[in-house]
Amino acid sequence: MYAEVLIEYPTKKIDKYFTYIIPASFQGKLKAGMKVKVPFGNKTINGFVMQITDTFDRNYELKEIVEIVDEEIVLSEELIKLGLYLEEKTLCPKICAYQTMLPSSLKIKEIRSNYNFYQTYLILNKSKKEILEYLVQYGKENKQTNLLNILLKEEKVLKKDYDSYVVKALREKELIKEIKEQEYRINKSKSENIIKHELNNEQQNVFNIIKNTNEFKTFLLEGITGSGKTEVYLNLIEDTLKKGKTAIMLVPEISLTVALVNRFYEWFGSRVAILHSALSNGEKNDEYLKIVREEVSLVVGTRSAIFAPLKNIGLIIIDEEHSDTFKQDNMPRYNAKDIAMVRAKYHHAPLVLGSATPTLESKARALKGVYHHLKLTKRAGSGTLPKVSIVDMTEEVKKHNFIFSEELITKLQKCLANQEQAMILLNRRGYSTTITCSSCGYTYKCPNCDITLTYHKSSNNLRCHYCGYTVTKNEECPNCHEKALNYLGLGTEKVTEELAKIFPQARIVRMDQDTTSKKGAHEKIIASFKAHEYDILLGTQMISKGFDFPYVTLVGVINADSSLNIPDFRSNERTFSLLYQASGRAGRSNLKGEVVLQTFNPDNYVLKCVAENNFNKFFNYEMNIRHILKYPPYYYLVSLKVISKDYDIALENATKIANYLKKNLMPTSIVLGPTTASLFKFNNNYRFQIVIKYRHDDKLMKVLKYLDNIYLNDNKVNLEIDIDPLHI
Ligand code: ADP
Ligand code: ZN
Repeated sequence: MYAEVLIEYPTKKIDKYFTYIIPASFQGKLKAGMKVKVPFGNKTINGFVMQITDTFDRNYELKEIVEIVDEEIVLSEELIKLGLYLEEKTLCPKICAYQTMLPSSLKIKEIRSNYNFYQTYLILNKSKKEILEYLVQYGKENKQTNLLNILLKEEKVLKKDYDSYVVKALREKELIKEIKEQEYRINKSKSENIIKHELNNEQQNVFNIIKNTNEFKTFLLEGITGSGKTEVYLNLIEDTLKKGKTAIMLVPEISLTVALVNRFYEWFGSRVAILHSALSNGEKNDEYLKIVREEVSLVVGTRSAIFAPLKNIGLIIIDEEHSDTFKQDNMPRYNAKDIAMVRAKYHHAPLVLGSATPTLESKARALKGVYHHLKLTKRAGSGTLPKVSIVDMTEEVKKHNFIFSEELITKLQKCLANQEQAMILLNRRGYSTTITCSSCGYTYKCPNCDITLTYHKSSNNLRCHYCGYTVTKNEECPNCHEKALNYLGLGTEKVTEELAKIFPQARIVRMDQDTTSKKGAHEKIIASFKAHEYDILLGTQMISKGFDFPYVTLVGVINADSSLNIPDFRSNERTFSLLYQASGRAGRSNLKGEVVLQTFNPDNYVLKCVAENNFNKFFNYEMNIRHILKYPPYYYLVSLKVISKDYDIALENATKIANYLKKNLMPTSIVLGPTTASLFKFNNNYRFQIVIKYRHDDKLMKVLKYLDNIYLNDNKVNLEIDIDPLHI
């Protein structure tokens, strides 16, 4: 028998399995997915067995597997297949595909037991009868006989709870002994009295349809903010577990969804494993082992939790499916939604994509019937959607109101007087790379691509990083002719200060990168705001998502339009989603909610759609732009980045690659560039970008693989290929 073994070798050059002989003593015991030690060169190294075969047709001398390092099968047959899919779809090396699926403790070079957490217990070392006889003979009450009496009842106790000299004495008499047992670091139990809402008609309908699906099918669950999607998820999962199957629930980010995760613990207790990047390596190891050992049936986690080695999956849910975090930026550049589809297909299970503002791609597929479209159109509890108003800041600036408009201040006063709560979102995205007029809000846009131009200080010009269009920066604003073209936006600290001056009595808490860098800081701020220890929560986009604060009746957004300026064709979509989600924080209980959007572009269509709470209107508008400019969902994209420390080498290779693509792809595909990438100079590297737009191209993958191979071992130029990029 032979084993195909995956080893970790530092270069990409050797990206294949190596064949080893399985010695007789391991036969029958060794299985695919186990970790082994094999000879390689003049060393022995770790590897994973990927396949076991009984024939081997090449005739050179093979070596034997030395040792089985870990008998726990961490890579199931399904995951081994999934790795090949990753390799094929994202052009990553095999090793990279498999390492991505595993927590640090289980990666090739690691020894799992180093990460396991062991507790030392004391147990009796003699039969109960012998101990009883001993107690009769030496039965004086003391610490030693006490411990023996406890052990007669409890079988085992934690060593650390008892005095070490007592333990030592009893051990020397050989009456007790120590044992070590692995213990999981996270232990949660079910809550006894959870509130389970009775599903309303809409929820019940959605629940029934998905529950009765026992085959692969993708559902898009489009439910407005507060429509009770979570309640539907919980019920669906409960039903899946009752059927004896398992489920995966993906969320965009755990730190922002602590309350959500707690609900899963409340409902399912120790049947839940969680997987996300804020866990320690030890915690990740434990959670992963719970899954491998089939001790849990539900995995809740972020992107890479989609690789959780659950068996018999009956349901996969991706909450907030529009979130960018489901796509990984570095190798392997996979999207968890694609992986979810492959896994759901493998298990013949339904996949649910949920959001109030689904991606245009998902919604378009739902409208075409590729996905099954389900809707929740009403708020589940007593809340109603808030009333949204748009404030024109160009008028306010004239009155010297640079940060807060009169309308927002008046509404804040009222809100505070009623002892209700307010949230203020400072939209800071989009300011770092672009030039805006502080007087009228004008920004430079590319006439060809409808994205904001990126400012290049060294050459004092603005460029489109899709098509290369360039224009010199003017002295004065081309729109209002003021010399105010250097506006870089406000910081949260400054805004908090100003707010405190206007409302000295108000209790204000700030949430941004600075105030949440420590572990657990998010949770603390959110919990104290929810407990009404503060009146106003002020923060960046991180306050916009998911929270359910019943006393929030007012949401103010400062610079509502700034994220429209990010030079990316998805800026409109992301801005709509951000503002719609933020608005959704207001009026979630029986208190009425209001939203104030401050902007320099009051006529902007995206903002108007937010004000009308109208996602469909936005969708139709944006689909039209995407159609005209040949963007997704009408076209697919590939982005290629050509990176080098040497400007000339980078540009020369980028040009060569672009020419090669133009010659070798199908004529219906469009090749844009090379142009400077949005992050042009980074870490002393120059970065050029080429974008491919295509609808259907049989030659694409072959051409990309060819290029990838050429640059595989080039140490001057790095080629990064991103298939279906989220940012270009
Ligand atoms: P979403 O995830 O769609 O934004 P949530 O699941 O957070 O919405 O639900 C919003 C609020 O409505 C929560 O406070 C939740 O407890 C409540 N809720 C959900 N379903 C029901 C129901 N059937 N009856 C009453 N309240 C409900
Ligand atoms: Zn352009």
